[in-house]
Amino acid sequence: MYIFASSLDPMTALDMDIEQTYKLIKGKWEKHLRSHGVKLPRLMVKGGEYSKDALALVYLARKYPDTVWVTKEELTEFIKKHYPETTDVQSGRHLGAQKGFYILSSRRGNNYPPGKPPPPGKAAYLLLTLEEPHPSFRPRREGKIAQEDFEEIKKKYDYRCATCGSREGESNYRYPGSVTELQKAHRNPHVPLEGDNVIPQCQFCNRADRNSWVYDERGRVVGVASARPILKSIKKGWLPTHEIEKLKDAISSYLRSRERESGP
Ligand SMILES: [Zn+2]
Repeated sequence: MYIFASSLDPMTALDMDIEQTYKLIKGKWEKHLRSHGVKLPRLMVKGGEYSKDALALVYLARKYPDTVWVTKEELTEFIKKHYPETTDVQSGRHLGAQKGFYILSSRRGNNYPPGKPPPPGKAAYLLLTLEEPHPSFRPRREGKIAQEDFEEIKKKYDYRCATCGSREGESNYRYPGSVTELQKAHRNPHVPLEGDNVIPQCQFCNRADRNSWVYDERGRVVGVASARPILKSIKKGWLPTHEIEKLKDAISSYLRSRERESGP
């Protein structure tokens, strides 16, 4: 989709930048983020102004993929050019915590990428990637399970992540700089998040790529829920030829039986 500026109001160089960067973000979002429930802010609000969230996202995505830490002050200054009355911009935080973009915050004790420490003593944000959602982002489809039921489940698991064993509120085993949060996680992502299908997982085990796996009640991977890991394994040569042959046979026999079922 292209966005045309009104002929009465020629685009400035800055606007061009904004629209081009937004287009890049939108392309990445369509390819990698939309299916995870990440919410892309609209570029324009009524009246033809850019939305504040879109401006913030564009600013964070400048020079993508070579993004840098952006302080809250810089973000506020940028948005002020469009909304002069702005005093305190919360978009950096919202875009990560609520909309699902993988934005690190200097105030949240995230793991910083090597060689990219945040500016000391300042609230700042870093857009890490547009190719995966924020690891602790949970699209709104959860909630079918009541909080008190989840408390019961967590208790059964001794308040530990079913998969890695990290304990709620304590340092995470795999990411010692981060405090473990327990989240409601699917055993099978194709089944609703309720009853036996719920296990507690920490924010790192319960990340976007979980949708590829099926877990048993002990949080161990017992199967795949998407073709992705298999395709990757074939591509990488992890699956030897005789295993690929087995897959081929299984797929052929599955297709034949489906044909028989739907036959005349
Ligand atoms: Zn875990």
